[in-house]
Amino acid sequence: MTKAHDQALTGWHLENSYSRLPASFFSIQKPTPVQAPKLVKFNEPLAAELGLDAEDLQTDVGVAVFAGNEIPEGSEPLAQAYAGHQFGNLTMLGDGRAILLGEQITPQDERFDIQLKGSGRTPYSRGGDGRASLGPMLREYIISEAMHGLGIPTTRSLAVVSTGEPVIRETDLPGAILTRVAASHIRVGTFQYAAGKGDVEALKALADYTIQRHFPSIATNDHPYLSLLQEVIKQQASLIAKWQLVGFIHGVMNTDNMTISGETIDYGPCAFMNTYDPATVFSSIDRNGRYAYANQRPIGGWNLARFAETLLQLLDKDQDKAVEMAQHEMSQYMPLFQSNWLAGMRAKLGIVDEEKDDEKLVEDLLDIMENNRADYTNTFRALTYNKPEDSALFDKPEFEKWKKTWQARRDRQQASKEESQTLMENSNPAVIPRNHRVEEALESAVEHGDYSVMEKLLDVLSNPYGHKTEQEEYCSPPPASSLPYKTYCGT
Ligand code: AMP
Ligand code: MG
Repeated sequence: MTKAHDQALTGWHLENSYSRLPASFFSIQKPTPVQAPKLVKFNEPLAAELGLDAEDLQTDVGVAVFAGNEIPEGSEPLAQAYAGHQFGNLTMLGDGRAILLGEQITPQDERFDIQLKGSGRTPYSRGGDGRASLGPMLREYIISEAMHGLGIPTTRSLAVVSTGEPVIRETDLPGAILTRVAASHIRVGTFQYAAGKGDVEALKALADYTIQRHFPSIATNDHPYLSLLQEVIKQQASLIAKWQLVGFIHGVMNTDNMTISGETIDYGPCAFMNTYDPATVFSSIDRNGRYAYANQRPIGGWNLARFAETLLQLLDKDQDKAVEMAQHEMSQYMPLFQSNWLAGMRAKLGIVDEEKDDEKLVEDLLDIMENNRADYTNTFRALTYNKPEDSALFDKPEFEKWKKTWQARRDRQQASKEESQTLMENSNPAVIPRNHRVEEALESAVEHGDYSVMEKLLDVLSNPYGHKTEQEEYCSPPPASSLPYKTYCGT
């Protein structure tokens, strides 16, 4: 079989609309080939959704694409330019270790970026080697797929290949490349990059492209750029509320790690909270807790304000008026977040309608959980089944009192007991990717080449609202003796 024929069989149908943007937005850049690629993880259901042939992609020719050793037909590989506020400081960035192969057009006519992460140096690599190591790429695979299972918008993971080459960090680590799938990789930082150049035409081209790609229905509005701001605020208010509801801590909410599509992106130092504590931080470099659990809501607003600033020149010629328009939209973020979050919390408590004291009911529960250091996920799971799992909490008089108020609230609503119960089951995950479980799976894969632990974990995480008996062993928090969990960026 010829190579072109092989590639046709794999189902790649790539377009390159991003490369039609002004040239300053990217650099043409091929991946750097690797020595001995080996497919270590492949996402068959996702391949099928993308219209790819799962079997052919696992052959040598298919794997060569995931390794960056072959460029599939139709691909015009490039690295994207962007800027970003990193812990509050604006920096010029860009894909330092990622390459966009193109946009896969699915059989349903949807468009998804196909990006290789860890595929070699680019003009934006700064001092870095452009590479990634196996553990963090598998970690991104596990957590992004877990987020998808939880119903949270996210980039996905199609494949991980080990490269057969070491990457040099504190010690030598096995190298790997992740194939990331995203609605797009346009970030708040991409707009900051365009606005920072002071090139209004380029900024307008980016905004028009983004509208066409993500929000086509607003293109004919009277003020499409104002609508763009509204849409992005809406998406992020919804996304960050969803993170809060499952106890997800992103860890590095720099503006370059906030998408315009509303997908979660950049699984570096993220982790799920066990004990409910609003001040929880896992990231080793987040010393001031800028991106702590409770700060994700205000930081979302801060990042959106940076996005709004980039649009000012497009909103109105009169800059005072433009600022006023942007400020008005920004004032909608907190109420939008709050209504998304409260709706989600009502669902977690099996409540289908609205009463004015609902927020207090939720806040009272969270206070009791915090004071008793209760496990976040398991408290809601226990409430769902009315099983006192965490006895430290369930024996407390203040909790008993709260439960009576809650039961009375549930009894007052129109929904039947069964409807309320089903709502709770569908809103309270039984399993989340607990840090100790993720570490166990990674150690087994990276140290011993045994992927069975990770496979089992991924299977359980694909159905987190299943509440199946075989999931129970994945529900326990880490042993109390465990040291505080620490996560790391960009490793
Ligand atoms: P992150 O903290 O993962 O969002 O990364 C911040 C920036 O550093 C991005 O522009 C990355 O592309 C870049 N980067 C991270 N690791 C590397 C690396 N090993 N080589 C080159 N660039 C990198
Ligand atoms: Mg990033």
